[in-house]
Amino acid sequence: MQKQKEELKKYIGDNANIQISLIDNHDDTEVRVVIIGESVRKDYLSVYGYPLNTTPYLKTAKGIFIDGLIAAASNTQLSLSRTLFKTMPNENKINWGINFVFLANKAGYETYWVSNQGIIEYGDDIFYTLAQSASQAHFFKEGNYLSNDTDDEEILPIFSKIVNSNNKNKVIFIHMIGSHEPVCYRLGNFQPSFQIYNEASCYVATIEKLDLFIKNITDILKKKNYKLMYFSDHGLSVEKKTNLPFCRYI
Ligand SMILES: [Zn+2]
Repeated sequence: MQKQKEELKKYIGDNANIQISLIDNHDDTEVRVVIIGESVRKDYLSVYGYPLNTTPYLKTAKGIFIDGLIAAASNTQLSLSRTLFKTMPNENKINWGINFVFLANKAGYETYWVSNQGIIEYGDDIFYTLAQSASQAHFFKEGNYLSNDTDDEEILPIFSKIVNSNNKNKVIFIHMIGSHEPVCYRLGNFQPSFQIYNEASCYVATIEKLDLFIKNITDILKKKNYKLMYFSDHGLSVEKKTNLPFCRYI
């Protein structure tokens, strides 16, 4: 792990020779948003068939809903380091220099990283380092993911400010704390519509809360030409009517 961190720091800027060209010069998209979710499993979203309507907004939203995306790994660090950076599976290596933020910078966008995850420990320092390559980075937490329990809702005013700050084309990355366990801590003032059993009720509520969050993000974007992409880093093991707590993934 230490070796990986050293390699990341050494090679993250190692991309000067990479050439990028815009895919479509006539694309009038002003804002591109990449929302990185946390511990969200698709079978709890009604848009994918969950019987309770946990995603009323997404059910009516226009978009492409990919059914069958498999996370690269079952925890944040391993999954996102293989999603946001170029991987070389045959060599079991990651090319730290080629990553989403670099590609967006190189393509001429202003880039922003807004995170409600930690900045140290549990691999979060990888994404903190990545965020420093963006034009601007905003982190709510000053320590690990437990260092304060900022609600994802607090991302919204910052997001709004960025969207409306100037007319430059932007890519905005949002890294949510989402449904990270302990899930009942994620609800804040949110009033859930459903009660199922034990902590699973909180999990279902975090999915409803996610649906509302995405709706609020799209409301802020209403006057812009935008493209938005959401994916979760991995799922979560949810208890099946026992008194056992959740399996813990970070
Ligand atoms: Zn995660």
